[in-house]
Order: sequence, then C-alpha cells, then structure tokens
Amino acid sequence: MPEQKKEDYCRPSWDDYFMEIVSVVGKRGTCGRGRSGCVITKDKRIISTGYVGSPIGLPHCDEVGHEMHTVIKADGKESRHCIRTSHAEENAIIQAARFGVKLTGSTLYCKMTPCYTCAKMIINAGIVRVVASQDYHGGARTKEIFAAAGIQFNLLSDKMTTYADMGPKESVPAPEEPELIGLEPPF
Ligand SMILES: [Zn+2]
Ligand SMILES: [Zn+2]
Repeated sequence: MPEQKKEDYCRPSWDDYFMEIVSVVGKRGTCGRGRSGCVITKDKRIISTGYVGSPIGLPHCDEVGHEMHTVIKADGKESRHCIRTSHAEENAIIQAARFGVKLTGSTLYCKMTPCYTCAKMIINAGIVRVVASQDYHGGARTKEIFAAAGIQFNLLSDKMTTYADMGPKESVPAPEEPELIGLEPPF
C-alpha cells in the first residue's frame, strides 16, 4: 500500500504545542474567573504544570463562591479580583519546589500576562522566557520588570483578558471566562 501523503498536516510549533497543553491544564482550575493553566518547560520538555485553585485542602471557588477583593489602582480606579486561589504560574513554580525540580533557564507558558506578584516569582525562580497567549489589564508592571530583569516576554496576541465584575461600572463588559489566578498541583 502506498504511503499516504502527509503534506496537508500542519505540525504545531513548540510554542503552539505547549500553549495548547496550557489550555488543557487550565481545565482543572477551580475558579471560574479564568481557569488559567501554566506549563514550565526546559529543553522542549515539560518540567512542571499548574492551574488556578485554592491551597490544597481548602474549599474551592466552584464549591463556595469567589473571595472578591477590591483594589485601588495607582490611577485611582478600582479593580476587583478573586483572591481565594493561587495563580497558575504560582502553582507551577510551587509544584517544582515540592518535587525538587530546578527551574533555572526554563520557559513558562501561561494564558495571560502574569500578574505583578507572579512576575516577581518568575524572575527569582530563574525562568528566562515567558510566553502568554493574551494580555492582562493589570500587566503593565509585569512587562516593565520583565524587561528590566532581562526576561524574554512573548505575547502571542494583543487580545485583552476581561471577566465579570472586574471593576467600576464603567469598565469592561463581562465575558465568560477570564482572569488569571493561580492553580494547584494535580494531586
Ligand atoms: Zn474565585
Ligand atoms: Zn499571578
């Protein structure tokens, strides 16, 4: 039997491949304001994963509702966040610590531009490249400190993440899924 021609098949790039895995990992998230996922790789291998969720053993947003918190931003505007969970990026870094996996020189893939807190952890973990599929409204400081720290940051689209009840009335409409918040290791 003749070999079937395969030229119609479009093999994904490494970035597309890992980003697709990020979306699968995020499905385990337990806060509906995002269900973000994160994958950390080194030499094209996955060395850690994480998704948004409460600390192990504590109730999840999906069970008891969000823990909403209002923040006054530098420009005086309010923004609202669910703070019950650890972020996907945070949990991926923590999972590496839990299993003794060194992240120096690694690449982190995530759904949105990481928040300022996760960005600081990413820098100190020794991660050297960050790839996000879309932007985050609170991501300006992250971009500044990534640039200052020499982290290579690749945003795959300029789509801005939005979600329900994210701030003052005048702000962004409420889409279905969104925000980034941490995750919990898969156990
Ligand atoms: Zn929540
Ligand atoms: Zn974060």
